[in-house]
Amino acid sequence: MKLNENYSNLKESYLFSTIAKKVNDFSAAHPDKKIIRLGIGDVTLPLCKAVVNAMKSAVEEMGVQSTFRGYGPEQGYDFLKKAIKNYYAEKNVNLESDEIFISDGAKSDLGNILDLFDKDNTVLVPDPVYPVYVDTNIMAGRKIIYINANEENDFLPSPDESIKADIIYICSPNNPTGAVYTKEGLKKWVDYALKNKAIILFDAAYEAFITDETLPHSIYEIEGAKNCAIEFCSFSKTAGFTGTRCGYTVVPHALGRLNKMWLRRQTTKFNGVPYIVQRGAEAVFSKDGREEIQTNLNYYRENAKIIADTLTGCGIKFFGGKFSPYIWLKCPNNMSSWEFFDYILTNIQVVGTPGEGFGKNGEGFFRLTSFGSRENTIEAMKRFKTLINK
Ligand code: PLP
Repeated sequence: MKLNENYSNLKESYLFSTIAKKVNDFSAAHPDKKIIRLGIGDVTLPLCKAVVNAMKSAVEEMGVQSTFRGYGPEQGYDFLKKAIKNYYAEKNVNLESDEIFISDGAKSDLGNILDLFDKDNTVLVPDPVYPVYVDTNIMAGRKIIYINANEENDFLPSPDESIKADIIYICSPNNPTGAVYTKEGLKKWVDYALKNKAIILFDAAYEAFITDETLPHSIYEIEGAKNCAIEFCSFSKTAGFTGTRCGYTVVPHALGRLNKMWLRRQTTKFNGVPYIVQRGAEAVFSKDGREEIQTNLNYYRENAKIIADTLTGCGIKFFGGKFSPYIWLKCPNNMSSWEFFDYILTNIQVVGTPGEGFGKNGEGFFRLTSFGSRENTIEAMKRFKTLINK
């Protein structure tokens, strides 16, 4: 037996454990102080009524002989694929049902898709980045190169012809920076991928936060993208499914063998998402479901606006927040990410995420999220204002 030694090349992820330790230590020393967490990447609002009702009906069906269902299709039920297909059609993207694969969330598929690619591919990831893209490739022993996302390019890097990459990760709206590509910006990547015979792995997990309809929700809104991109999406942030688990991956036929290879991979290694959960996800696209999830998304958007307005008022530069739950701020007075973390924890008991934890270009930046409660967001920003204007 030989171990996969690539695992020893993984960097220990100290980010969230260090945050937890610092917060716990502070809390133990100052039990009277109320700590507000604006670092969380998890949703806090419950599932909407339309989703809950659909799941309740599905549970009832499962308890009746005539409507009981056992194993479903590994790639998802047609009713959900149809709802997703119609959603894309609204953006003038026409998909075939068998190009859509239902998953238990974007994270698993982002990792699993790598089964389809040889180890001998060079991977391009932006820095800072959602760590899953990096770690899944380290586990497979693939070579990773980084492209700088920074203030100069508004955290939206463009392709560089001197870089030769085979697999390219793009996340828009971005975690952690909140930056969103325009159609023109994405087109540069599509053109690069087509020219270099590379594949783009496009993470659209936060697409539902976009309200400016000139911005692309899907990479397939860009001409030629079906020939060079796989898209990953999720109901996690759109509809509060972080604990319920459902997402989808689009592998267009235009990508040649990849569509059939992914089907083969999924039918071999995956047995599908629960029927009950897929009925809940279908309800996200119903008339009531849409209205209800917009109410929830608007709640988070308003929180983001409260944070953004406070930062603007304090003269602190930031990115994101407008079409994303993430606000990526530049630490004032040239503080490092961790100095700023300690500064606001100690002085105003607000917790965020040090940007340095997402890559070297994250140093000097700090991530706040709009997923907290309204009350906590307002209170945290009140404290923030007082501290910065001191
Ligand atoms: N992609 C990005 C950029 C994320 O931030 C997350 C979750 O935080 C995911 C994917 C994973 O989402 P899911 O819950 O669908 O696995």
